[in-house]
Amino acid sequence: MRSLAPLILCLLLSGIAYGEVREVCLSDRVGLNSHARASFDAEILEILKPVGVTFQVTCTEGAVRVVLSKVPPTRYAGALGLAYRQGNRVFAGLHVYLQPVLQALGPQVSAAIIGRALARVAAHEVGHYVLQQVDHDHSGLMRERFPLHHLASDDSTPFLLAKN
Ligand SMILES: [Zn+2]
Repeated sequence: MRSLAPLILCLLLSGIAYGEVREVCLSDRVGLNSHARASFDAEILEILKPVGVTFQVTCTEGAVRVVLSKVPPTRYAGALGLAYRQGNRVFAGLHVYLQPVLQALGPQVSAAIIGRALARVAAHEVGHYVLQQVDHDHSGLMRERFPLHHLASDDSTPFLLAKN
């Protein structure tokens, strides 16, 4: 059943650059429409608030950028997002990919649902960086896999950081 298929939210790869930043923003390279963007902003704010991260609607210097691109690098095809690591450090290069998210959501989803799903993937990648967490939790935002229906659901609860 499609709705029960687990998703790999991200892969952690080797990378460069590291910094202590509590502000993040979206660098949108695909040009989301205003409905998708409004939904993205609202959702990522809500998810990141308890993590102690401020989401800036406009990117300023010093903020960590989550880059939204159309497709992941060929060898990571299917990844919804990527964060880079070296050893136990997670770097500030955070990525979210539109096409695999659209593919996961299926046809006929609204722009608002697309924006919200992208925000959930983005927040997960931000979590890796801000928490400097290279592994995954059993529940909540830092789960490795989510049931597909969670990504499109009106309920944000499964994407909130688990209270350990
Ligand atoms: Zn992850």
